[in-house]
Amino acid sequence: MSYQTLYRKYRPSDLSDVAGQKSIVKIIKNSLKFGRISHAYLFCGPRGTGKTTMARILAKNVNCLDIQDGMACGKCKNCLSILNGNCPDIIELDAASNNGVDEIREIKNKVTLVPTELKYKVYVIDEVHMLSIGAFNALLKTLEEPPEHVIFILATTDLHKVPITIISRCQCLDFHRISEEEIIKRLSQIAEIENFDIEDGVLESIANLSDGGFRDAIGMLDKLVSYSDNKLTLSDFEELNGIVSIEDKKNFLKNVELGDVKNIIDFIDKVYNKGKDLVIFSQDLMILCRNLIIDYYSYQKLDFDIEFLLNFVDVLNSLSNDLKVTSNVRIVFETRILSFMRQNNVKNDYISSSQVDNACNLSVDNISNCVEEFKEPLKSVEKNNFDEAISQTKSNQKIIEKNNEENLIRRNSIIINNCFCNASKKNLNFVKENWEKLNEYALDNKFGAIACYLSDSIVRAASDKEIIITFDYESLVNRGLQFGNMVGELLNKIMNVPYYVAYLTVDQWNNEKKKYIENLNQGNKYIYQELIDFNDSSDKIENEIKASSNIEVTDSITDEAIKLFGEDLISVSE
Ligand SMILES: [Zn+2]
Repeated sequence: MSYQTLYRKYRPSDLSDVAGQKSIVKIIKNSLKFGRISHAYLFCGPRGTGKTTMARILAKNVNCLDIQDGMACGKCKNCLSILNGNCPDIIELDAASNNGVDEIREIKNKVTLVPTELKYKVYVIDEVHMLSIGAFNALLKTLEEPPEHVIFILATTDLHKVPITIISRCQCLDFHRISEEEIIKRLSQIAEIENFDIEDGVLESIANLSDGGFRDAIGMLDKLVSYSDNKLTLSDFEELNGIVSIEDKKNFLKNVELGDVKNIIDFIDKVYNKGKDLVIFSQDLMILCRNLIIDYYSYQKLDFDIEFLLNFVDVLNSLSNDLKVTSNVRIVFETRILSFMRQNNVKNDYISSSQVDNACNLSVDNISNCVEEFKEPLKSVEKNNFDEAISQTKSNQKIIEKNNEENLIRRNSIIINNCFCNASKKNLNFVKENWEKLNEYALDNKFGAIACYLSDSIVRAASDKEIIITFDYESLVNRGLQFGNMVGELLNKIMNVPYYVAYLTVDQWNNEKKKYIENLNQGNKYIYQELIDFNDSSDKIENEIKASSNIEVTDSITDEAIKLFGEDLISVSE
């Protein structure tokens, strides 16, 4: 008999088997129970958290002829047809393997045909963010008016790459990482059924390494089963996944704390030569430090200096980020660790810094771009006050956010003012003509989300440096304010001008337009204002939009206004 992987064997076939995702299970159960089925779902979340599995369950349950309490019967002809596979009314498409224009066109052409066997035809499009612009546009048309008998389930790991126009037409369900407890629980059930002999700590290590993805977790268990002879041991697991054992990690930490340079260099040498992954090692160390810190605040139990751990977490954090992008993993790892030891020991007077310097010739200038926000509040607290520290950090964060928001709004009004100073029809036409080029960036890694966002707007006015655009909803306006300098960067690529953009709702725009015409009628002129930097929190931008009367009233107000807005102005001035 051929071996069936654990992942396939234990893939949930109904809502009750799904690990984690409680709120999503509940939402889907209730919508099935009360017959409130949406015609388009968008499942988003990290890999391996159950999106595709849930899509299949949903496809089955909406079609079950004897649905009870949201659960499929598994016996009716529809259930059986789906469980056997090859049901022609369930169509799965993986957008990652083809960009989908032809497939989506095909869907568009066939979508109106009624299902051959089932109640609903269900289209599951996995990794939907990989569709090309053309395919998205074709899909959008279908999503705008889906036939009664059709359900779309789109799944993605990268929500920000999906155009807002698509998102706004779907019911979005957010799949979270599955908790370690949940993963351990499910793995133990499987281990019990399969009669696996598992050493303590193995399932915990799997859960830890899987980073909340159940598919990865069960895949690791599968690999370990094929690797091990009888008992599934922790050392086999560590060997297989290039992990350093917890004891070795603790020793490593101790040697860093004590400044034992020779031991550290020997150990790195050993780890590296055994082919272990230093990125994973530094992340593991970070997790270990984090657990030790939590233990300290929970039980006042610690074999290390707390200050040392807090500082070392910062170093590891920036180190593991840097290791991902460097080709000299070992050198960066060694120098950072040794530089940190040098600083730590200078501070603690354990050993002279020259001891470290003699061990290897290091440049210690550019180290520790630490994450200060994390370190400071933790440092300042007494034992037992961990929660308080966290809530303190959060409230500080809120104040910063609020100040930031006010600045963004002020900045927006300055851009509007400046745009009105020099706006012209010619500039407006230029921007409008080039706005479509945003589509070319819709799948760009860096600018994708911004390009999709901007292409949903209407360009209302433009000067040589500023643009005013509008959206239907205030939430969309707020989103634009958050994008910051990236918008100018993108527009510079398209039009060779790093435009400043102001964001308004249609109502706000009509008001601004009205104000502009009033000012024009009264002979008032907008004065160009200096634009503050995004991070500038000073009050120098307090001054409101000023209107002074140093311009002669022109004979034809309408002509002047039309120069700016074109014909659509007239409707406002009437
Ligand atoms: Zn059924």
